Amino acid sequence: MLLDSSTLYLVATLVALMLGAMLLYFGRHENIAALSWWGFAYLLGGVSVGLWTLAGPLLGELPMLALNAVGFVSCGMVWTAARVFHGRTPIWAGVLSGAVVWIAAIFVLPPEASSLRITIGAGIVACYAVLTAYELGLERRKSVQHRWPTALVPLLHGLVLMLPILLGDFLQADGATSGSHFGVTAFAIELVLYAIGTVFLIFVLVSERTVAAHKVAASCDPLTGLFNRRGFSEATGRMIEREAKAGRPVTVMIFDIDHFKSINDRFGHPAGDEVLKLFATVIQNSLRITDLTGRIGGEEFAALLPCSLEEAMQAAERVRQNFAGCGIEVDDAPVATTVSIGVSGGPAGTELDVLLAAADTALYQAKRGGRNRVQSAAEEPLSLAQGRKATAAGLAPKPIVRVTRTDAVMTMEAAR
Ligand code: GH3
Ligand code: MG
Ligand code: MG
Repeated sequence: MLLDSSTLYLVATLVALMLGAMLLYFGRHENIAALSWWGFAYLLGGVSVGLWTLAGPLLGELPMLALNAVGFVSCGMVWTAARVFHGRTPIWAGVLSGAVVWIAAIFVLPPEASSLRITIGAGIVACYAVLTAYELGLERRKSVQHRWPTALVPLLHGLVLMLPILLGDFLQADGATSGSHFGVTAFAIELVLYAIGTVFLIFVLVSERTVAAHKVAASCDPLTGLFNRRGFSEATGRMIEREAKAGRPVTVMIFDIDHFKSINDRFGHPAGDEVLKLFATVIQNSLRITDLTGRIGGEEFAALLPCSLEEAMQAAERVRQNFAGCGIEVDDAPVATTVSIGVSGGPAGTELDVLLAAADTALYQAKRGGRNRVQSAAEEPLSLAQGRKATAAGLAPKPIVRVTRTDAVMTMEAAR
């Protein structure tokens, strides 16, 4: 089958223009700068290939070669779009250097060195393709799983462009005319497939990023930036599983700011919010980076530490002291900031809910004991599996099932 290369280039032009317009629209609509870069790059590329195909014969050799420079700027913009997508800044010198090298080659090389010019041109596009692949492959977000195809597509594009040069001798042997026709046709087809394939990948990346952002929003507390209850439970589940495999103990803490309601009442809700933010900072600064922290209720926070109860008690004491020593003031009036902490450690594999229930009991004792103190659970809680076994053997202690709190008094009801 003989394909008409002019028609193919025209199709490539129309596809590039259409995709460019779509990317531009989407970029503006969703306020994603990288998509606007991609859109402009496609429009510029489409215009340059279109003019080259339609008006080429009328333009003469020098304007034709200059049009290629516009195409190289478009390749540089695709590379820049990948940079911008990952939060990096555009490098204008990089965007323009391909075109500069090309123009220099036109002026420096003698007119008959057309094959060397083609090699340089394909090399420039291949360089941009490799740079784009590098930028896309660099995506450091763990949530992005489709990293390898995003790098592979531009790399293949670069390879296809280099093929006529790499296979130059083979094509020459096959006959210059049929060889070059084959190259031109293959390049036009590749151009269309690359343009469509890249847009598909762009949308995969954008949708992955959006899903990741929603996931973070769903598991984060907007006021303090810590995990919310859901995020905390998910993250701690993973940590407990990991520590259980290694046979290491884990410890849970529950923090409840003392008399927080009176801070709100005396200084107002916004001041209360500031105290919550301050406490979040205190926990983060007082615990290790490997410890997980979350805001699990209004003025209640929790942490999971991959360590023994004894070590965790020291860390909890550090949090208590640091918060008490904050010395904050609202309208020149000192605000007493104290916290009560319940701590519970368990053997490897103890479930979060079991640890939280035991830590909550310890917290209740800390409140009853006068607040501003750290209290450890009286005994190691049983994991659910151990608990079931002990219940079957009639050994399990009566589990605490409900803790109710009224304004000032807390009462605890045992299971009936
Ligand atoms: P205790 O020492 O017994 O823990 O007393 P408390 O006053 O700290 O506890 P209580 O449960 O009586 O009051 C908690 C208060 O926390 C009530 C609620 O209005 C306030 N609160 C909950 N969420 C927020 C929030 O996001 N911002 C602010 N400013 N206050 C909140
Ligand atoms: Mg509370
Ligand atoms: Mg409280």
